[in-house]
Amino acid sequence: MNAYLEKVLGETKAKNANEPEFFQAVDEVLTTIEPVVNEHPEFSKLALLERMVEPERIIAFRVPWVDDNGQTRVNRGFRVQFNGLIGPYKGGLRFDPSVNISIMKFLAFEQIFKNALTGLPIGGAKGGSDFDPKGKSDNEIMRFCQSFMTELQRHIGPDVDVPAGDIGVGAREIGYLYGQYRRIRNCYEAGVITGKGLEYGGSLVRKEATGYGLIYFMREMLNANNYQCLSGKTVTISGSGNVAIYACEKAQMMGANVVAMSDSNGCIYHPDGLNLEEIKEIKEVRRGRIKEYLNRYAETRYFEKKGNESPIWNIKTDIALPCATQNELTLEDAKKLTANGVIAIGEGANMPCTKEATEYFLANKVLVAPAKAANAGGVATSAIEMSQNSMRYYLSFEEVDQMLENIMKDIFKSCKNSAEKYNLGNNYVAGANIASFTKLSKAMEAQGII
Ligand code: NDP
Repeated sequence: MNAYLEKVLGETKAKNANEPEFFQAVDEVLTTIEPVVNEHPEFSKLALLERMVEPERIIAFRVPWVDDNGQTRVNRGFRVQFNGLIGPYKGGLRFDPSVNISIMKFLAFEQIFKNALTGLPIGGAKGGSDFDPKGKSDNEIMRFCQSFMTELQRHIGPDVDVPAGDIGVGAREIGYLYGQYRRIRNCYEAGVITGKGLEYGGSLVRKEATGYGLIYFMREMLNANNYQCLSGKTVTISGSGNVAIYACEKAQMMGANVVAMSDSNGCIYHPDGLNLEEIKEIKEVRRGRIKEYLNRYAETRYFEKKGNESPIWNIKTDIALPCATQNELTLEDAKKLTANGVIAIGEGANMPCTKEATEYFLANKVLVAPAKAANAGGVATSAIEMSQNSMRYYLSFEEVDQMLENIMKDIFKSCKNSAEKYNLGNNYVAGANIASFTKLSKAMEAQGII
């Protein structure tokens, strides 16, 4: 390995010894950009990589709130403003008990490269809290969001940092967060947050964008590799949240047979094809468990999740779309999927495949659509929402959907061209990292030592 890369990797591991997810994300990028680093000996003197792996700013804060029983509770809030080279910091907020600084930094780091791939002017950030929205009343969610925003508002703004949703933060939470921002700042800066409701500055297609974008990318990847389109293919999708639901919708629109979806308790398997309307009713309306699908479709099988194992990857499929969370698809899962004849993996979630799983797929000629590229449709459409807010104007569903589709096609082309330029075949994982790193390194050199 290039000596400079090896040195930076070693230092990053030592400095962030208690942050395994962050190191995993850095490791994946640095080990794939070697051909570019070899061409630029000046990077070492400029400490370009050392600066790229160090966040510009980390904000950590206390979030006190009062539950319905009058008990005061305290959570931790974070915002990692990792890199603002090419635009205002941009990235979602995650509310989940697993949130810690390692997860925030890995997500913010990934976001820098993803945002660069979109071709739009947005920097990389991520934030959130270890607050668990499950089982909380609407009023508790509102009080928590208000307390969270009371601190966060000091650090964000339409030209500074623009949060959005992620795990545990959907339309309801965005509404409460935005309402508190507007109240404290006394101005209508709709572009300060994305994923807003359509009534107050949201964009059509934002809700669908990550899932739809994933399927647009998958279609491009299949076409480029002489597989026919998605029509007639069997698809399994982990998760049943925002990304999973709209990936399912677009895959079904393209004629695929989606047979399985999951949540954190287990997975349902319906070989005739899932009824998405029923899943939307359970997850989006009732906020229930996916197992409730069996109440209507008794012929469906349910596999309970035990420990870290994800039963959904035991199911035979042509295309697997991990759309739940990081490291949910392990080497063991990769071996089972490959043995069962999977042809393509589409990462809807961020870093859902472990490093070993990704390497196994690539070594066994399974196509991998990497998260940074394949799930970038969400943030790209968020940037389109920001543009509409600046213009004080709304685009139609068809207009935004067409822009999203074009962006996903361009992202695929960037990944493909970069992989081909360095003789990496159809390794789009490396292609995505190289394409975004090349752009970012040029911007870094241009802006001087900052
Ligand atoms: P949601 O909160 O809407 O949904 C998450 C889903 O994943 C839920 O069904 C949840 O189940 C399930 N889940 C969570 N943890 C596990 C687990 N350990 N095993 C199995 N299932 C699990 O989140 P999103 O759909 O917004 O986000 C999903 C992923 O996509 C995340 O990695 C996120 O960072 C990424 N992403 C999201 C974007 C967006 O626009 N929303 C954009 C780009 C990436 P349960 O209902 O039981 O909690």
